[in-house]
Amino acid sequence: MFGSRFFLICSLGFLAASPICAENAIPASASEKNKPAAPAEPRITFSRVHVDGPYIAMSFDDGPHGTLTPRLLDLLAAHHVKANFFVIGENVAEHPEIVARAAREGHEIGNHSWSHPNFGKMSDEAVRRDLRKTDDAIRSATGTRPILLRPPYGSITARQKKWINQEFGYKIILWDVDPLDWKRPGAAAVCNRIVRGTRPGSIVLSHDIHPGTIEAMPATLDQLEAKGFKFVTVSELIAMALPETPKPAPGKRVNAPATEATLPVTSTIPHD
Ligand SMILES: [Zn+2]
Repeated sequence: MFGSRFFLICSLGFLAASPICAENAIPASASEKNKPAAPAEPRITFSRVHVDGPYIAMSFDDGPHGTLTPRLLDLLAAHHVKANFFVIGENVAEHPEIVARAAREGHEIGNHSWSHPNFGKMSDEAVRRDLRKTDDAIRSATGTRPILLRPPYGSITARQKKWINQEFGYKIILWDVDPLDWKRPGAAAVCNRIVRGTRPGSIVLSHDIHPGTIEAMPATLDQLEAKGFKFVTVSELIAMALPETPKPAPGKRVNAPATEATLPVTSTIPHD
């Protein structure tokens, strides 16, 4: 019931031109023009994806949560939305059946560390142990190894990205839309920030461990759908990527100087 009531509030807010969950009606392409051109991203790291079409990826971090994540899965199923879950290993160990359900229902599961440490301040060996333990827990729950990593806090060094990509085959997935839902600003703010900030190719960050985030999702999904956005997983979004940087010269292979574009990626998703 909270969902329809919340959507009503959002709708009324929109009609009254109030900022409550009413996006600014600025077309994504128009707002994009006002931004300076972003520097070319390394090929293994994505905070958004350059795509030709209204495709976006929703991602939910820090779960699974025993009650909120199943509620979110119900919502996503009702909207026929496939999303990404960047899970915490110790939560996977506690609720493997929820992660299994998410994977079974077509969502993509990514590694978000075992206990949410700051990788940027850790030794390689500690990071390696953490990633391996989480990778094993995800594989045990779903039967499939993850191919994406979202470092906690987005904290990871360029050097770590390279060796983690080489050893684990992970792409490093950041985000370009952040509603700061972990500060618990209320469902209306979460909805409003996401809908206002999302553009084609966006990777939207939020957290399925906060009640307000789940409460925000019915209206958020409705409004994103109303804008014409199509929901895909991060790997599907990356598979649609249009080239933004020149391709490496032919013959540059794994042992060439380690530009990120030449690093091996074990994913089955095309990496161009
Ligand atoms: Zn997190």
